[in-house]
Amino acid sequence: MDCCSFCQDKTADNIAVPYSYIPGAARDGTLSDLSIAIPACGECRDLLGEVYWSSLEEAAGYLASVYRELYAHLLNTAKWERDELFELGHGLRHFVETSQRTKFETKERIASCDRVAVLGPEFSEQVLDEIAYAVSCAQLRNAEKS
Ligand SMILES: [Zn+2]
Repeated sequence: MDCCSFCQDKTADNIAVPYSYIPGAARDGTLSDLSIAIPACGECRDLLGEVYWSSLEEAAGYLASVYRELYAHLLNTAKWERDELFELGHGLRHFVETSQRTKFETKERIASCDRVAVLGPEFSEQVLDEIAYAVSCAQLRNAEKS
């Protein structure tokens, strides 16, 4: 399963983007109306469905700022030391450990969005193959039309 192109969350979802947003896309405009599916988690996809964005970098920057605000309560929770955790009862300790893990994962997701906002997305071989396949199919269709 591929990871989200923005936050690296494990995902089974896709988001459709114009071919021109893909790094290395041909700039001659022949395939500008081609829509390409790239992996995106449900949360990133839902958020991006509500706004206009003109590049994957811009989309990632937007997501990073939304997640910082959305999860501010989680990101601002105090860090617990191991010996502090062991002073807690089992139920409470489990709760704190779970929220600490979620905090860590959320920080990672935001860091990934920040990275994509600056460096652009990094696609797996499989995603790159799928993009190349979609492009060659579209080129074939265009060639048949002309
Ligand atoms: Zn995501």
